[in-house]
Amino acid sequence: MITANIYSKQLEINDSFLKPVVEDELNLKEDSDKKWVRCRNCHNKIALFSDKISINENDSYIFKNPAGIFFRIACFANAPGSIAVSDFTDEHTWFTGYRWSIALCRLCHKHIGWLYSGSDEFYGLIADKLSGV
Ligand SMILES: [Zn+2]
Repeated sequence: MITANIYSKQLEINDSFLKPVVEDELNLKEDSDKKWVRCRNCHNKIALFSDKISINENDSYIFKNPAGIFFRIACFANAPGSIAVSDFTDEHTWFTGYRWSIALCRLCHKHIGWLYSGSDEFYGLIADKLSGV
């Protein structure tokens, strides 16, 4: 088990969820015309820039968590280079009606954002953890 200190709360993460990067899956989406947002730590492809979407009329937000840490979040419809590893919770959610799960980079397992689930699903990715966003 590994833990992540998110929202000032220790969450246990089952590391059996942490599978190696699925390069074939990502390569299927490879296209020289497409720009990828990448993990700033390991350069893994995280999301297509073209999948950036608006949620509640904005595609990016600045939020503060209960521990006082600010996050600049960009919203994406999909993030195949990430993996959601925790149970969903609505505790301190930044998007009313959406529960969240911690999203890690599939390759280096750094925390890069959250998968939000409500009437639909989207990713809130931490801009400072990414390049090309
Ligand atoms: Zn990474």
